Amino acid sequence: MGRPSDPMTRRWLFADQLGPHFLGPDESPGDDGVESVLLIESKAAFRRRRYHRAKTHLVLSALRHRANELGSRCIYLQGEGYRAALASAGEPLSVVDPTSFAARQLVREAGVSVLPARGFVTSQADFERWASGRRQLRQEDFYRDARRRTGILMAGDEPEGGRWNFDADNRLPPPRGAATLGLPDPVWPTEDDIDAQVRDDLDRWQSEGIEFAGVDGPRRFAATRAEALTALDDFVHHRLGAFGPYEDAALVGDWSMAHSLLSAPMNMGLLDPHEVIERVVEAWSSGAVPLASAEGFVRQVMGWRDFVWHLYWHFGPDYVANSNALDAHEPLPAWFRDLDAEALNARCLATALGEVRDRGWNHHILRLMVLGNWALQHGYDPREVTEWFTAHYVDAYPWVMAANVIGMALHADGGRMASKPYAAGGAYIKRMTDFCQGCAYRPDRRVGPQACPVTAGYWALIARHEESWARHPRMAQPVRGWARLSDREELLAQEAARGSEAP
Ligand SMILES: Cc1cc2nc3c(=O)[nH]c(=O)nc-3n(C[C@H](O)[C@H](O)[C@H](O)COP(=O)(O)OP(=O)(O)OC[C@H]3O[C@@H](n4cnc5c(N)ncnc54)[C@H](O)[C@@H]3O)c2cc1C
Repeated sequence: MGRPSDPMTRRWLFADQLGPHFLGPDESPGDDGVESVLLIESKAAFRRRRYHRAKTHLVLSALRHRANELGSRCIYLQGEGYRAALASAGEPLSVVDPTSFAARQLVREAGVSVLPARGFVTSQADFERWASGRRQLRQEDFYRDARRRTGILMAGDEPEGGRWNFDADNRLPPPRGAATLGLPDPVWPTEDDIDAQVRDDLDRWQSEGIEFAGVDGPRRFAATRAEALTALDDFVHHRLGAFGPYEDAALVGDWSMAHSLLSAPMNMGLLDPHEVIERVVEAWSSGAVPLASAEGFVRQVMGWRDFVWHLYWHFGPDYVANSNALDAHEPLPAWFRDLDAEALNARCLATALGEVRDRGWNHHILRLMVLGNWALQHGYDPREVTEWFTAHYVDAYPWVMAANVIGMALHADGGRMASKPYAAGGAYIKRMTDFCQGCAYRPDRRVGPQACPVTAGYWALIARHEESWARHPRMAQPVRGWARLSDREELLAQEAARGSEAP
């Protein structure tokens, strides 16, 4: 086993460790100290589930671009699996601790020198110190602790602007009557010969029987460090200012809104979240963007992204398999599984599913309050839902999926991560989006031909858990609301008859 800083040790980089901060001997970004690199393209990884083709394209394109940049410093092995490739690599290797339980087991069994994980703002030790002795792990508390510890957006011991939270300025509905936020179109990468080669290979893999989902349209997400830095720059200059106010709003005609589109490059290791936060804080301190937007964004990256990363390890390898507190066992219906947006009359679901089909990406509100909310309302099996998100999103990895799907979207962990289910009816969708305009259903109707399936689904969910939520501090009120409805029986019969039909 080679020592981590041994210059003779070759650094094995996983496909989510592609930036310079995965090369140095310590946690400082920079590609000094490592002479040579091993990259492995494992075809077996793409046989495990039916991945979105755009996701597969992005990963292969990023790996091959990295190999191309590193030139003679890189051994690039293409094969069926990691173990066979490692056997042929045959020299002392070091690796930055990878991001899944399975990969961590693999590197340890392979006898590789393992360096501490990188790519996050806070360390596992920081998290465990914060979590130890706490009865409840809540993101807001973690985030404030991380702000204090790092000094980011702090004025001494106080948060900049005197407040931790700018929700009152943020989270506005979309501007009235607007079809888009009117921001410049994000800068998209230009595909090159490597992308063309990836497309040819994917066509060949498909003809050999590997199945993909979705459309592999022009590549939208950064596959190289240079593209990722351009995307960061573009976000900070053109969208960050509007990020805070509109982070929870959605429009049919504006799929990216003011979001950063940086989850994929950050999760592939092309951008270090430290540098992303630094750029955002700089934009605020130079007066280019309001504090509410900069804070809202830092909260997402240092607050939410780090929090779900730590929860993945803290909750352990069985968290996804063993969490089903709401006793949800419905299989995903074919229209949902196959991204069949055309089959739907409900405009919110058709928009969200169509975006997944076309790009392998939605912004947070469509993941949580449209698709996640629907899966929660209809009791879809949490493991199937986790698989579905993992397979279809360009930024999906096991560590980010577990707490977001099981804890946040489905409340399948019984409240270990979130204090209440993120359940909502059509009124929420109507307030925060333009999806209800021109929809076949009406968000204020619970029963009848125009009954909004999201509104009716919400009440059917409350009815299903009426007993256990009657004493829940944050769900008792909707349970009382349900008890007051006069059309309960009609609504339940209507929803039972709807079954798994496309809404
Ligand atoms: C059901 C569900 C599934 C999700 N799946 C993924 C996933 O596969 N990969 C992923 O990176 N995020 C996931 N998220 C979190 C979030 O929706 C995405 O990070 C975000 O939509 C990505 O778009 P963006 O880069 O434009 O983000 P922005 O809205 O611009 O936010 C900035 C950054 O904050 C981070 N962030 C914000 N919220 C979260 C969160 N809840 N968890 C982790 N990071 C967060 C991301 O790195 C993101 O790039 C999921 C959320 C839900 C509810």
